[in-house]
Amino acid sequence: MTTEIEVENRTKNWSNWAGNQSVKRICQYMPKSEVELQRVVAFAAANSLRVKAVGSGHSFTSVALAEDVLVDLSNYDEVVAVDRQAKTITVQSGIQLSKLNEILSQNGLAMQNLGDIAYQTIAGAISTSTHGTGIKFSGLANQIIAMRVVLADATVVECSAALNVDLFNCARVGLGALGLISTLTIQVVAAFNLKVIEEPMRVDDVLAKLDHHVTSNDHFEFFWVPHTGWALTKRNNRTDQPAQPMSRISNWYSKTLMENYAFGALCMLGRAKPAFIPKLAKALPSSGRSEYCDVSYKVFASKRIVRFYEMEYAIPREACEEALNRVRRMVEDSGFFLNFPVEVRFTAPDEIPLSTASNRESAYIAVHIYKGMNFVPYFKEVESIMNSYQGRPHWGKLHFQNSHSLASRYPQWDLFQKVRNSVDPNRRFANQYVQNVLGD
Ligand SMILES: Cc1cc2nc3c(=O)[nH]c(=O)nc-3n(C[C@H](O)[C@H](O)[C@H](O)COP(=O)(O)OP(=O)(O)OC[C@H]3O[C@@H](n4cnc5c(N)ncnc54)[C@H](O)[C@@H]3O)c2cc1C
Repeated sequence: MTTEIEVENRTKNWSNWAGNQSVKRICQYMPKSEVELQRVVAFAAANSLRVKAVGSGHSFTSVALAEDVLVDLSNYDEVVAVDRQAKTITVQSGIQLSKLNEILSQNGLAMQNLGDIAYQTIAGAISTSTHGTGIKFSGLANQIIAMRVVLADATVVECSAALNVDLFNCARVGLGALGLISTLTIQVVAAFNLKVIEEPMRVDDVLAKLDHHVTSNDHFEFFWVPHTGWALTKRNNRTDQPAQPMSRISNWYSKTLMENYAFGALCMLGRAKPAFIPKLAKALPSSGRSEYCDVSYKVFASKRIVRFYEMEYAIPREACEEALNRVRRMVEDSGFFLNFPVEVRFTAPDEIPLSTASNRESAYIAVHIYKGMNFVPYFKEVESIMNSYQGRPHWGKLHFQNSHSLASRYPQWDLFQKVRNSVDPNRRFANQYVQNVLGD
């Protein structure tokens, strides 16, 4: 492999979506083919440089912060193959979920489950263990059935459940630390519609019937509104009914005006006058009940205009009620003024070593703070509660852990370390974040 680099490159400033991670004048490459990915890695190896792939920059942590060479995959985002019969699709790693969803839909197919936005790239999303909600469904990484990865020596390795199995399992949630993912094959399903019921409920009532909500709905989640006894619930169920989406005006009113602009205005007011927040919070649950039916990917993914910082922990599902009640008591006792709801979701277990749901059914508790406000005291308090449940932080969302505090929380931690040592002994794909959470 030549170490001369002919890939389009420039020096650029980079920052993530939330604006809390940035790097100045970084050498940035935009490969358009697998061979160009290999060339970037060979060039970095020949010059003892570290390589970092970035997706859409939607991680809040510095997991995607490049130190020497930034590989921007936005020109590497095409579909390689679709097999409608087997319901699989093979794509280049830089494809955004929004584009992937549209292409799947045109082929009568869909992702089994998704998170609540579609701005991420597929490789970026799986690398941090991105997930949605639904106790019968696992995160996005578990929907991947094969990958091609460019390793530190610039060779390309194919991996799947039948080939290079350990690498496959580890690289599905690999934090970008094992190599550059080139292409991915995803197991998808026939396109489907979701019947949606969005409804405020008393949070105590939600918790009293939590198991029922979680098991009797395909995709259940709720948002507890701090300073109130209310939760906004969302029940999405698969249906054969035809789509009956909200009218364009209702959709704009509810999803754009209320969930983004009006909410953003409340957040701005709250940031300027924090003591007003408990009163402002009372406006949130008044949104009323709504019911509609739409194609799955349009229901799962929403618009996010208001910028914030986020931390999210996966804990054993059975600990959810107790953990959330501890968060509620802590908020009451602490005097924190919080203008963002606390989001609670659920997923099935998987067997991916660094997945947040590795070997356990999981509940996810996510806390947010409006951009520009100090998140540290609140997030630290929540984290200390999650620590008592062997909580696993979302790799792309803020936390204060390191490899010592994390190692015992993942049953297959040692396997990941073994694979990492064998494929990247010189830490070509490390950065400070990876070094901190995985060790050196
Ligand atoms: C508004 C908002 C909403 C969100 N909603 C959810 C949600 O519902 N559920 C959830 O779980 N998370 C959610 N997240 C978190 C988000 O899904 C993850 O942080 C995800 O990793 C971001 O994807 P990205 O494409 O921006 O990747 P980046 O943040 O750019 O990168 C993430 C990691 O992927 C690696 N990577 C990227 N491409 C490659 C490649 N080709 N090869 C190897 N490594 C690669 C990077 O090196 C880095 O380590 C949300 C974030 C935001 C800002």
